[in-house]
Amino acid sequence: MGCCEKKPDITELFGSNVFNDKVMKERLPKDTYKALKKVLAGQSELTADVADVVANAIKDWAIEKGASHYTHWFQPLTNITAEKHDSFINPTEDGGIIMEFSGKQLIKGEPDASSFPSGGLRATFEARGYTAWDVTSPVFLKTDAAGDVTLCIPTAFCSYTGHALDKKTPLLRSMSAVSKQALRVLKTFGNKTASAVLSTVGPEQEYFLVDKKYYLERLDLIMSGRTLFGAPSPKGQELEDQYFGSIKDRVSAFMKDLDIELWKMGILAKTKHNEVAPSQFEIAPVFSTTNIAADHNQLLMETIQKIALRHEMVCLLHEKPYAGINGNGKHNNWSLSTDDGQNLLEPGKTPEENEQFLAFCAAVIKAVDTHADILRATCATSGNDHRLGANEAPPGIISIFLGELLTEVLFGIASGKKVKTGGKEFLKIGVDTLPALPLDNSDRNRTSPFAFTGNKFEFRMVGSSASISGPNVALNTIVAEALDELANRLEKAKDVNTEVAAYVKEVIEKHGRVIFNGNGYTEEWPQEAGKRGLPNVKNSVDALKAYLTPKAQKLFEKYGVLTKEELHSRYEIYVEQYYKHINIEALCASKMSRTLYIPTALKLAAKLAKQIKVVKEAGVSSKVQEALLGKVSKLLEAIDKKTSVLETAAAKAKAAGDATDQATIARDEVFAALAALREDVDALEIITPAALWPVPTYGDMLFKL
Ligand code: ADP
Ligand code: MG
Repeated sequence: MGCCEKKPDITELFGSNVFNDKVMKERLPKDTYKALKKVLAGQSELTADVADVVANAIKDWAIEKGASHYTHWFQPLTNITAEKHDSFINPTEDGGIIMEFSGKQLIKGEPDASSFPSGGLRATFEARGYTAWDVTSPVFLKTDAAGDVTLCIPTAFCSYTGHALDKKTPLLRSMSAVSKQALRVLKTFGNKTASAVLSTVGPEQEYFLVDKKYYLERLDLIMSGRTLFGAPSPKGQELEDQYFGSIKDRVSAFMKDLDIELWKMGILAKTKHNEVAPSQFEIAPVFSTTNIAADHNQLLMETIQKIALRHEMVCLLHEKPYAGINGNGKHNNWSLSTDDGQNLLEPGKTPEENEQFLAFCAAVIKAVDTHADILRATCATSGNDHRLGANEAPPGIISIFLGELLTEVLFGIASGKKVKTGGKEFLKIGVDTLPALPLDNSDRNRTSPFAFTGNKFEFRMVGSSASISGPNVALNTIVAEALDELANRLEKAKDVNTEVAAYVKEVIEKHGRVIFNGNGYTEEWPQEAGKRGLPNVKNSVDALKAYLTPKAQKLFEKYGVLTKEELHSRYEIYVEQYYKHINIEALCASKMSRTLYIPTALKLAAKLAKQIKVVKEAGVSSKVQEALLGKVSKLLEAIDKKTSVLETAAAKAKAAGDATDQATIARDEVFAALAALREDVDALEIITPAALWPVPTYGDMLFKL
């Protein structure tokens, strides 16, 4: 498209595939619209009459837009979404059909639940599951490249017994828990206008793109999402020339299509840029409530993959697709806002005088320190194990970065002195013609796993391929608990401000240990954290145990977020997933070794042997060839042996009693065997002629977009 051709009007395009407020207003009778708005605000229940009218309006709208099917779109415990499509058709007596969609079909579905992980929640004889419309997340249309349009109804998914089998149900429960407790606290500060507190999140999503032709040649990428082998390319990310670099045309064309698709579905795609590693990128939306943000992040992950394919590329969402360069993360920017528009984590210009902010901020600090183990558990996957602790990402220790100013204010209150922050608000650049920039109340500390970034906390441990629901369920619930305790104090207090000061003092004394403004990537930090008594959990198998503690059970049960059974089921499912992923990697590595790398080594060895013979016959020195053959033979032997070691370890894990044992063996033996095998295969790659190497190299995958 040239510069002056007409481009789509983005304001028209945005939300064009969403049954949003504007469409509702246009298409619903006034009474129905009003009744539905009340339901959306949580002030009344959805009646059958209203549901029928709404369903009919939705159907007409969807059909006009080209849909013939609808689906209850839900989020089983797998990190991806599920959908079963039903058409609107209904037979008539005269042998024809009419297009129908009832209120009942809108609000409730009964998919077979037997093929989704349930962690023991659903007895096999009771296969039915139920889906229920999350009225607060709008109905939308998904379109595919072939022009197929499907009406999607965001739903929660539970078992016959009412147990949550999905990621949305606990998220909604945790949102109402934190809302309730935050409102109590707000009331003590005299707030009369807020009727709900919304937890909000803006997830920044990192990903890699790789040319499809290389991807299809890499069994490891196809099967496990990451490269299990690959020697480093001569150039990595050391020139720091990728981050924020100018975006290549091919990628930019992809990003443009992506934005358009996302905007149509009402996803507020806002920023896009090159990330640190070659062929790595980021996209971030404007924040929304945690349930909508979670829905949208799932849609975003799915859409990135779809659109990439349309551009002959594949999107890699794995936490560590390539060794030796940065992995993918998902920064979960979290805050609390009132329904009358107040961000409760906004410090204002003088946080020292903003008691309400100080109270909420202290509550978050207390919550994070008390339940660091739970937060860590929500980020535990085999993929994320590569990131947590590796040099580019936060270590397995949860700590909070507050920035100098806020730390001074809080520790000041704890030691009884009031710190004045005035005069620190502007950043002077030293060039008169440039405006003075308002200084965020925190600078950027990229190494902290949980950083205060001006008016929100950024949880950076979250894995790039994972749903953001788990981490936000935990955040909402642990903060609900802290606010509950705070409300109990403030409701009884004679003077709220004095009580806040006492609360802050107590929080800093008991939980100040979790505050760390330094560089979290240094070798000293784990030692220092150890002295402070902060846990450093280095792998998922250990991290997931946090779901089994009495502390976790008490917390999640008290706030009605997860029952003991639901909590245990999550542990079971996640431990099993950890094992399964590593097992797939093991099987894939052994297959690649036996069918690609060993044959390559054999071919190379044979070539060299032949050459040596020829060269010797010619009466010339074969020293170089012999040395090379020696190296190849040694590696061949090692690769063969290590492949067997890997296979034995995988078999041992498979034969183990339960999921925890399997995961433990996978972690201690299979994982180590994978790494050991890789070393020799990568060494072989370095000495093998390029034309003989059977798979695309790191250089191909990272630099040839
Ligand atoms: P960064 O400096 O990390 O790039 P940005 O200001 O670009 O931060 O914001 C990152 C993300 O944080 C965006 O998705 C943004 O919408 C989100 N965000 C901003 N304010 C809030 C808030 N109050 N609650 C939740 N997320 C927020
Ligand atoms: Mg950020």
